[in-house]
Amino acid sequence: MSDGGARVRGLYHALDEQVRPLLARHADRLGCRRGCAHCCIDGLTVLQLEADRIVAAHAELLRTEAPAPAGRCALLDAEGACRVYEVRPYVCRTQGLPLRWFEEDEASGEIHEYRDICPINLEGPALATLGDEELWTLGPFEEHLLDANLELFGHDRRVALRDLFAKRC
Ligand code: SF4
Repeated sequence: MSDGGARVRGLYHALDEQVRPLLARHADRLGCRRGCAHCCIDGLTVLQLEADRIVAAHAELLRTEAPAPAGRCALLDAEGACRVYEVRPYVCRTQGLPLRWFEEDEASGEIHEYRDICPINLEGPALATLGDEELWTLGPFEEHLLDANLELFGHDRRVALRDLFAKRC
C-alpha cells in the first residue's frame, strides 16, 4: 500500500472511531441501511487520497463495470448499495447523523451555528436540544483530510467519483 493508502486508512479508522458512539446514540432515529441511497447523489467529488484509496481497492470494478446512470452516485449498484462501501469516502461515513456546522454572517461578521439531519432521520429529539457532542461537527476532520492531501500531493483538486470509471454510461 502506498503512503497515501496507509494515511487515508488511518484517517478513516480514526473517523469511524469518532462516529461509532454517535451511531449508537442515535440508533433509534437512524433509518440508514443498505439500499437507502438518498445521500448517494450524483456529482460527488473527493480529494485525491480518497480517490486513490477507492481505485486501489476496486481497480477491476472501475475498469470493467459501468457507473450508475446519471442522477445517482456513480458507485451505486442496481439495488442501491454502495459498490465500494468499505473504502467509501469521508462524506459518506457521516451521512445520516445529526450534523452541526458554523457559518459567518456576511453582514455582521458573527458566527452562527447550524444544525440539520436527513429528513428520513428527523423523528426523534429536536436537534436544538442535543448537546454539541451528540452531533457530528463539520469542519475539523475535513481539515485533517485536506492537510494530508496537501502533504501527499501538493494540491487540493477534487476528483469526481464518476471519473474513476474507465467506462462512461
Ligand atoms: S461512494 Fe458509496 S456511500 Fe458514497 S455516495 Fe457513492 S454509493 Fe453512496
